[in-house]
Amino acid sequence: MKIETITICGGGNAAHTIIPIIRNNFSGKINLFLPYGNEATHFKKLIDEKRFLTATIGDKKLYGRPDKVSKLAKDVCKEADLILMPLPAFAHEPTLLQIAPFLKEEAIIGAIPARSGFEYAALKILKDNKKEKVKIFGMQTLPWACRIKEYAASVNILGKKNSVGIAAFPHQITSELASALSCILDLKIEPLPNMLTLSLANVGQIIHPGIMYGLFKGKEELKYRKEEIPLFYQGVTKEISQTLKTMSDEILLLTKEIKNKDKSIDLDQVLGLKDWLIYSYKDSIADKSTLQSCFVTNRAYQGLRAPMKKINDDHFLPDFQARYLTEDVPYGLVVTKSIAQLAKVDIPIIDEVILTTSKWIGKEYIKGGCLEEKDIKDARIPQNYNINNLEEIIIY
Ligand code: NAD
Repeated sequence: MKIETITICGGGNAAHTIIPIIRNNFSGKINLFLPYGNEATHFKKLIDEKRFLTATIGDKKLYGRPDKVSKLAKDVCKEADLILMPLPAFAHEPTLLQIAPFLKEEAIIGAIPARSGFEYAALKILKDNKKEKVKIFGMQTLPWACRIKEYAASVNILGKKNSVGIAAFPHQITSELASALSCILDLKIEPLPNMLTLSLANVGQIIHPGIMYGLFKGKEELKYRKEEIPLFYQGVTKEISQTLKTMSDEILLLTKEIKNKDKSIDLDQVLGLKDWLIYSYKDSIADKSTLQSCFVTNRAYQGLRAPMKKINDDHFLPDFQARYLTEDVPYGLVVTKSIAQLAKVDIPIIDEVILTTSKWIGKEYIKGGCLEEKDIKDARIPQNYNINNLEEIIIY
């Protein structure tokens, strides 16, 4: 696998983190594609002033800058061997649509993290652009917890996962790609057998909408003073952990049913939520005895509060437009629900979480336990890409 040019898409927290990390492990060219708003102009001006991005992780600092920055895909994607999309899932399609016409046949393009259903959208866009030879991949989660400190200047890496899963299509490239990315990103990366594993094992879809549901269902209008804003992960009560466990069990049941229908599919890496937390954060969790304690005693989650919007000088309301819902419902739970429908598996608690949280984000996806409402056309479900049976999903 020859990688001489890497193009990174987007200018958010994850993109700021990836640039210095890659620069420290890769001697080729790094391009930055910034199509969104006036980010390209803004980034170019600031990086010329500051000279490089600084990523701080503990007492270590990494430095780096892209060689070329552009708002136009034709400037930064034509020569790319590897294109990384460290973006929120709702930015995948708009970004892919711009990039696809300029991709080399041998290019590899992937989302970090993939969330659910990435392969349906990516393969359709590549096909429409006659780029069927381009290979795709997705990572199961973003490997770092990170926040921009100063745009185009500095980013804090607050934590790093022990290991992250990767799946690719075609499957044959997964191991080689995992080794290459492991060096480039200085990370333990575990190959996963297929992209369906990524969709089902997208834990963000359980954790984010599940905790929002548990914290705010029935308390939508409750106002909080700053000091009263609930901790998000460490605010998981016994009752919330039970909801999360049931959601996770429903996904495990769906996984089992898919395996029953096709014994050849390997979905062994779709872990239960507690097992995944221990696998990903084993060194940060003080008490691994229960699902609740895995959240409450996890150092990586320390002090993080629920998303809130300020309504006046003293008070806050829950922010239902936060990515925890706008990303993880249409690019997570709704995709899982669509797969469950194809597999004829009931997932009533996930239905209930979708029903409640979709109202909060002003969307309608589900009625009478079925996906059929007006906003379903915007969710990344296989049916929206002309995939209407389980057999086709299993191929990827
Ligand atoms: P972010 O909100 O910082 O990303 C914003 C960037 O995305 C923008 O600057 C822009 O460049 C791009 N963008 C947004 N909308 C776009 C659009 N419509 N078209 C094109 N580009 C668009 O996101 P992030 O924090 O970097 O997170 C990236 C992904 O990683 C998300 O899926 C997030 O859920 C996940 N994640 C992040 C963290 C973290 O600590 N930051 C932790 C775990 C998972």
